[in-house]
Parts: sequence; C-alpha cells; structure tokens
Amino acid sequence: MTTPPRPAGATGDAPFGRGGGPAPGPLTDASPHTTRPDPLRDPWVPAMRRALAEARTAPGTGDVPIGAVVLGPGGPHGEIIATGRNEREATGDPTAHAEVIALRAAAHRLGGWRLTGCTLVVTLEPCTMCAGAGVLSRVERVVYGAADTKAGAVGSLWDVMRDRRLNHRPEVLHGVMAAECGQLLTDFFRSPARAADRTDLPG
Ligand SMILES: [Zn+2]
Repeated sequence: MTTPPRPAGATGDAPFGRGGGPAPGPLTDASPHTTRPDPLRDPWVPAMRRALAEARTAPGTGDVPIGAVVLGPGGPHGEIIATGRNEREATGDPTAHAEVIALRAAAHRLGGWRLTGCTLVVTLEPCTMCAGAGVLSRVERVVYGAADTKAGAVGSLWDVMRDRRLNHRPEVLHGVMAAECGQLLTDFFRSPARAADRTDLPG
C-alpha cells in the first residue's frame, strides 16, 4: 500500500501541484484521479479529504491553507486520532505548522511521543522542520498531496525522511489528491488580499 524508499530525483518524482510536473486533467467528485484507479493512492483519499477540510478552515485566520491528520495503526483504515492546520498567523508561532500541531495532538492523545504505526497525512509536502518532526515521532508513514518545490523536504529539495543516515525512516507516499491540494494554495495566494505578499509556505 506504500512506496518503498527511493532516492531523491528518481523517475516518478515529478512534482505535483503548483510548479512543475505534468498538468493534471479535469477532476470530478466521483473520481479523485485523472484517468484510472490508483490502487496505491486511492485508499488514502478519505484521510486526505479530511486534511483538506482542516486546511480550508485556516484562511479564516489569515493562515496559508495547509491541513494534516494523524491516523492510528491500520494504514488508511486507521482511526483519525488527531488533526491540525497551519496556525502560524493565528498563534504567532513560527513552528505552528499543521504537521507539528497534528503530531503533538496525536502524542497527547496516545499518552506518549512514539507514534509507532501511525500515519501522518498532510496536504503539502512537509518542510525541513516537519519532516524532522515526522522522523522524531516515529510515524510509520507519511502521505502528502502537493509537492512543495520551494521548500519541500520529503523529495523536492531534501529527502529527510528517507535519509539512510537516520535511524528511523517513515515510508513516504506522495501525490494523493495533489491537484486539489495544490489548487487550494493557488487560490489562496491568488486572492486579492494575498497576491502581493506571502510567498513563504509553511509546510
Ligand atoms: Zn512545516
């Protein structure tokens, strides 16, 4: 159900969403993917939809719309044990990225910092901080939507989670609902209130 570790820049690493990569085709509610079923990614669509729902609540505070959920053991069928959205503006906290908030909430709920067997699902490729937090939390897997070609640390600019020098390397699956995740950010930055500033993406 997940991708094996692979080197950065390997074939198939074309970025999704904003920036490069092949242009996605038209999307419908019935099929989250462009052409045919994707047995690797389709099972994660419900969790990504929940992460997207979290992301959509962020702009109410002026925050870039990025959302995350943590699933308990069971892969895509695991229970959602925590959610988070980017709250950097709302809280004035530079570390208040969706992933960090979701990981903290999951640890609180589980009663410890080890999130063994859990999956972090996030709408945008994690940054260096959040990729590091994912490693430190011992999550089993990270699933993300759009690639962040400017700051991504899970395959785009760095590949922190699959760095073999680290003693824990979560599995990584990218490109789940990438078009929707990227479009949400594109729409946010193109909105009149945001067009002139905010090119830095928390992720
Ligand atoms: Zn981050």
